[in-house]
Formats: sequence, structure tokens, C-alpha cells
Amino acid sequence: MKRSQSRRKFLYDLGLAGISVPLISSGIKCAGDNKLKPQTMIDENKKAGKLGIALLGLGGYAGGQLAPALQQTEHCYLAGIVTGTPSKIPTWQSKYSIPDKNVYNYENLDSIKDNNDIHIVYVVTPNALHKEYVIRAAQAGKHVICEKPMALSVEDCDAMIATVKKAGKLLSIGYRLHFEPYNLEMVRLGTKKIYGGIKKIIAGFGFPLGDPNQWRVKKALSGGGPLQDVGIYCVQGICYTTGLEPITVTAQEGPKTDPEKFKEVEQSLAWQFEMPNGIIAEGKASYSDPLNYLKAEAEKGIFELTSAYNYSGQKGNTPEGPMDLPKVNQQAKQMDAFALSIKNKQSSIVPGELGKRDVKIIAAIYEAMRTGKKIPIK
Ligand code: NAD
Repeated sequence: MKRSQSRRKFLYDLGLAGISVPLISSGIKCAGDNKLKPQTMIDENKKAGKLGIALLGLGGYAGGQLAPALQQTEHCYLAGIVTGTPSKIPTWQSKYSIPDKNVYNYENLDSIKDNNDIHIVYVVTPNALHKEYVIRAAQAGKHVICEKPMALSVEDCDAMIATVKKAGKLLSIGYRLHFEPYNLEMVRLGTKKIYGGIKKIIAGFGFPLGDPNQWRVKKALSGGGPLQDVGIYCVQGICYTTGLEPITVTAQEGPKTDPEKFKEVEQSLAWQFEMPNGIIAEGKASYSDPLNYLKAEAEKGIFELTSAYNYSGQKGNTPEGPMDLPKVNQQAKQMDAFALSIKNKQSSIVPGELGKRDVKIIAAIYEAMRTGKKIPIK
């Protein structure tokens, strides 16, 4: 590693430590080890000052990423579950030592207000259901994390933000890449103009979607296709790398090679933002092509992530060589940062307002795609 890079890495590590938290094991036995009874696990975590999280919606992301990440968190832990599928309960309870009293369904969810093991409800359902559950969780007196996209309309985001505020609680969006070193390095290089001003930035995220019956291709549940699901990361990447927000957008739907699977939502799309300072920005999202990049062309060279948005395995280059940064559990960092925001009575690093901004931009991209016109983003 060149000296300048090694210095950057050191400075970066310092910066990361400043905004996040060390993932040092607390030594508390919890999920998987089965050494503590469920209530003892809860009591020990409470004694350690950790905030209890209830995961709401026990699908792929909750089970595959969030629950495992909650075994690595320092300031919060998995205290409860909310599910509409009773058959999932025994496995989750035994795997994560969850007591009966911390298991809820969508009917009795509101009674979670009486449960002082649970401080935060994390909404991980299909997109169209985020609004209802965020509002119910906040009305039950809980802080809330809401998965992306925050909601299907700006009006819904406003209602969610207002309800959480009225309840005196905090709202955070599941934007894990704000806690991921390679993406944070893109932010630093772009916003501090380390290689001069950015002239052009391009972002693409896509993968071949499997199961043709899943909610992701049902418009009423998803709100749209790959733009809602993965294109949102490209919108985010363009904004956080430049530190700017788009002014107008044009967009084009891609070809539908599988019109049966994609009869309700787009299979792919491309869009072009007009950014402040004459920066050109282009995004692509796809449910058929594998895409995973965020590339900035600056006055003094190109810096980019060639593997940008996955849960791990980020890769990047700068004009001085490949990036070499720490590997972290993004979700653990994200949830710990929110727990610390709550403890310190500070707004989330990724608040509801940021989720709403992206919902507004996504709505403009879809309008541009539908009308073929250049749409202002107000
Ligand atoms: P999934 O289909 O695997 O799980 C969805 C869960 O919601 C299931 O447990 C399902 O039973 C439950 N559910 C409740 N009501 C439902 C209904 N009416 N119809 C269908 N399912 C219902 O989906 P997922 O991949 O876990 O995605 C859930 C949310 O998490 C989405 O908003 C998605 O965008 C988000 N997500 C975020 C990331 C990330 O990296 N931040 C990754 C994956 C998913």
C-alpha cells in the first residue's frame, strides 16, 4: 500500500470510529449458545444497557442478515419477534432464546407498548406494509427502524415521520451502506474533492430475479420493480458521493424479455439526473442483468466501487491503487449506531427525512419513465 493510502486508511479508521462503535463482544451469552434461559438472556442484556430490538417480518433479510448481525451488536440485541406465520416461532425462539412474552403477531402488535424489554421495532416487511407497521410501532411507544424503500409515496413518508415525532421517538431507515467503509470512502473522496471535483458519476445495481410469484414483482406490495428494490442504492450512491441532490431526471424503461414475470413492474430501467455544478449522473437498475458499480470521474482521475452494494465483499479503486479498508458487519454497525442515537438523544444518521428524499426522487424517476419527459425534482 502506498504511504498516502496507508495514511488515508489510518485517518479513515479514526473517522469510522468517530461515527460508529467498536464491535467488541460483550461476553453476554445469547442466541445459539442455549446456555442461558430466554429471560436470563434478556435480563443480562438489559443489565449491560443494551436496547431490545423486535424484528417485524421474519423473511429472508430478517433471518439471513439482521438476526445474525444482532449477535454482534454492542448496544442492542434481539429481544423479540413479530410474525404472521406461527410455524416460524419455535425455530426463532430456540435459535435466539426469545421468551414467549416477546413474541407478537400482527393482531396483538399494539400491546407491545406494555413490553419494556423492547425499545425498537425493526420493520422488515414488503414495502407497501412499511407505513402501517411503522405507525403502529411508534404509536405503541417504540423507536422504529424501517427498511428501504421507506414507503410508496411522499405523503406516506410524511405521515410516518409525523407519527414517530408525535410519539417522541426516533425513526431510522435501513440504509446499511452509510456504515460500510468502502461506501464511506466514496463519500470522503467525493465530498472532500480529494481528486478534484466530480464531472460524471454512474451507478448500477441489478441481479437476475428468481421466483416469479414473490412480492417484488407485485406492484401493490413492492411499489415497482428494481428501482424500488436496488436502484434506490444507486440514487443513494450518487447523492452521498457527490454530496448533492438531483435537480431534474429523464428515464427510460428497458426491454421486457420476460413479460410474464414482469407484467406489473419494470424489468429494468435507466435514468439520467441533472445535478448541481453541471455534474452528469446516470443510474441503472435491473432484475435481469448483474450490475454492482458506483463510479466517479473526477478532475484528477477515477475513483470507483466495482463491487458496491452487497452485504460484504466491497471492492474499489482510486487513481492511487485499489482501496484496502476494514471489513465490517454493515447491519450490526447500522443497528448499533441507531441504538447510540437513541441513548444520546440524537437524530439517526439515516433518518426518515432521508428515506423520504429518496421516495421523492424515485417517484420523479418513474414519472420521467412513464411520460418520456424531463421531470423536475422539487
Ligand atoms: P421476504 O419476502 O424474504 O420477507 C418478507 C416478510 O414479510 C416475510 O416473512 C413475510 O411473511 C412477511 N409478510 C408480512 N406480510 C406480508 C404480506 N402481506 N405479503 C408478503 N409477505 C408478508 O422479503 P425480504 O427480502 O426480507 O424484504 C423485506 C424488506 O426488507 C423489504 O422492504 C426489502 O426492500 C428490505 N430489504 C432490505 C435489504 C437491505 O439490504 N437493506 C435487503 C433485503 C430486503
